Amino acid sequence: KSLLTIKDVYASIEEKQIIKGFNLDIKPGEVHAIMGPNGAGKSTMGYVLSGRDGYEVDSGSITFDGKDLLEMEVEERAAAGLFLAFQYPVEIPGVSNLEFLKASVDAIREANGEEPITSSELLKQAKAACKQVNLPLAFLKRGVNEGFSGGEKKRNELMQMLLLKPKLCILDETDSGLDIDALQMVAAGVNSQRSPERSFIVVTHYQRLLDYIKPDFVHVLADGKIVKSGDASLALELESQGYAWLETHEDAES
Ligand code: ADP
Ligand code: MG
Ligand code: MG
Repeated sequence: KSLLTIKDVYASIEEKQIIKGFNLDIKPGEVHAIMGPNGAGKSTMGYVLSGRDGYEVDSGSITFDGKDLLEMEVEERAAAGLFLAFQYPVEIPGVSNLEFLKASVDAIREANGEEPITSSELLKQAKAACKQVNLPLAFLKRGVNEGFSGGEKKRNELMQMLLLKPKLCILDETDSGLDIDALQMVAAGVNSQRSPERSFIVVTHYQRLLDYIKPDFVHVLADGKIVKSGDASLALELESQGYAWLETHEDAES
């Protein structure tokens, strides 16, 4: 049974069609990498899944955990177990990380008919998560992302992921460079969370992250649709040959 099924999705931003016939099927526990040239629509696809304002699905369908994702509000998607990391590095001054975590965890629990988490249980889990991502405990008291460095924001989001225990994590590395320490930390966080109940979409422009996170499948996105899929070796091929090779290769085949 699939966790996520995306069928022939076309999507636009401000009337401009960016996603043009996207298909993807993800089963529980699978890790899918999405690679592709700059501007291909990788981040756009992540936003479409998260339900971000302004991202319009023109046609196609998306089923998540048996439900019609496109009928769900952003908060409902999160409550159903979808987590998009690294794309909202928003600062929320005046709201501490711990308060934000409690609100996020409780929203998910409420949607699933559970009581709010107790403060002591939350603190226990948050401390353990901080330790795992190597984030000093002082960060729990600081305003969300307030004055955090790029690497600290990533650690913080991973820490959120550890507490929220989503069914599907979408990680968009973005094109901003991560240093090798941050990269390994992200990979360790992801790898520690891999399980038969959790799937990942790892969006990355570069192959290097996939040295640490071994994907089950690699897809190449170009001009809004997947043009090639394979196993982890496809990422290595792309690394040595670049994306231009792929286009030429496809042309040669047709
Ligand atoms: P990738 O993540 O693969 O580099 P993006 O999804 O960020 O690509 O962008 C895909 C295309 O959508 C690009 O041509 C980009 O210029 C365009 N785009 C992204 N955001 C917007 C926006 N807010 N308004 C208009 N066009 C956008
Ligand atoms: Mg880009
Ligand atoms: Mg991007």
